[in-house]
Amino acid sequence: MARYTGPVCKLCRREGQKLFLKGLKCYTEKCPIERRAYPPGQHGPSQARRRKRSDYALQLREKQKTKRIYGLHEKQFRNLFNRAAHQSGVTGENLLVGLERRLDNVVFRLGFAASRSQARQLVRHRHVEVNGRIVDVPSYAVEGGDDIAIKARSRDLLPVQASLESRVRPDTAEWLAVDEKTRVGRVLRLPTRQDVPMAVQEQLIVELYSK
Ligand code: SF4
Repeated sequence: MARYTGPVCKLCRREGQKLFLKGLKCYTEKCPIERRAYPPGQHGPSQARRRKRSDYALQLREKQKTKRIYGLHEKQFRNLFNRAAHQSGVTGENLLVGLERRLDNVVFRLGFAASRSQARQLVRHRHVEVNGRIVDVPSYAVEGGDDIAIKARSRDLLPVQASLESRVRPDTAEWLAVDEKTRVGRVLRLPTRQDVPMAVQEQLIVELYSK
């Protein structure tokens, strides 16, 4: 599937907030959003001055932001939404839980990778094991009790080491745990809405897709 290869800082500026798409560099280097706090492009500064946004614009931006945080394309995101809508419970919450359960997100949250895109590459390149077996599908949905690890031969990879030893990233999520000695991660339980730390208004996404 085609992937976005352009400058990721542009995506943050478009959404008007830090999405932390560049991994450790977001914590250690100067962030462009602080220097140019307006959307990218020729009309960016004038867009920033415009005060009122339509309901549709608010819904669209919330969807785009969430999609970009998790690094998904429209079709993948829409499929996940359709699945969430068919599950029991609140659709918006189901959607966020579905996003959190993705294997690439779990590898990132466990601290094995500095960003979700790096985590996706580790999964795709067959460096990640779930319950002792290699899984190379980034969208794989983890279950409670799953053990997630970087396979033994890949643990010395520089990006993995740098991410594990980094002290600038936030702590591991509460629904996950990492054994410091063996560096094996465990899914303690399935995530809930409260475990999603980003400020996402999922209701706006539901409204957008329900039109
Ligand atoms: Fe976003 Fe990180 Fe770039 Fe800042 S440095 S704009 S948080 S990707």
